[in-house]
Amino acid sequence: MKTKKTKIVFFTGSGISEESGLHTFRGHNGLWHEYRVEEVASIEGWMDNPQRVLEFYNKRRREMMNALPNKAHRSIGLLQEDKHTEVSVITQNIDTLHEQGGAHNVIHLHGRIDQLKCFDHSTLYPYDKDVEIGDTCEKGSQLRPNVVWFGEALDHSLINKATELISHADYLVIVGTSLLVQPAAGLIHNVNKNCTVYYVAPDEEKNMDVFMNRKNPFRFIKEKATVGVDMVISDIMGSPLSARHRGHSH
Ligand SMILES: [Zn+2]
Repeated sequence: MKTKKTKIVFFTGSGISEESGLHTFRGHNGLWHEYRVEEVASIEGWMDNPQRVLEFYNKRRREMMNALPNKAHRSIGLLQEDKHTEVSVITQNIDTLHEQGGAHNVIHLHGRIDQLKCFDHSTLYPYDKDVEIGDTCEKGSQLRPNVVWFGEALDHSLINKATELISHADYLVIVGTSLLVQPAAGLIHNVNKNCTVYYVAPDEEKNMDVFMNRKNPFRFIKEKATVGVDMVISDIMGSPLSARHRGHSH
């Protein structure tokens, strides 16, 4: 007899990667200090100085490839192996730390730093070494990172997939992202009325009351991701991951 699997959706943002040493434009660390966001992550910035844009992403790619997944990434990857659950991961991050942490089928709403695309076609190429001006696809179109820049539209098929997953979730676990900024702000409203929502963040967020107003069961875990994700998993599964996996034969 088949029992219904518990559907858990993780929706993550930059906060989960910060503990792996990766920083955002809001932070004041590392290479972010040298650039303004409009210069390097918009089509206008590209028009103005494509060389600078590629140089920025070449540095970012190296930084991200040198980062290691942390406990939060690994716990999510491990939970995905549990046969009683159906775990999906939707991320706004362009790093591949979820994959490195063992997760699969991760939906990257903002693209991936390990992929290139050209300006005219949809084929993706591996971004495994620096990309330069003059590097093109087979048809001669300049290559650029497969990341969504400010002012660019998100991939509709990914948004639809994310919406579908969230609307069927028994648990939605939001980690390390503001609830005020799109696409998070829009997507999280697709939860069904029985979905329990967890919000893991080190600080309170004004927009948390959207879930109180919806009357969804809601829990705010005021912790950083490496602590909070394990707390949520224990709460949902009734025991910590380590205890659950100790008894397995593999
Ligand atoms: Zn092309």
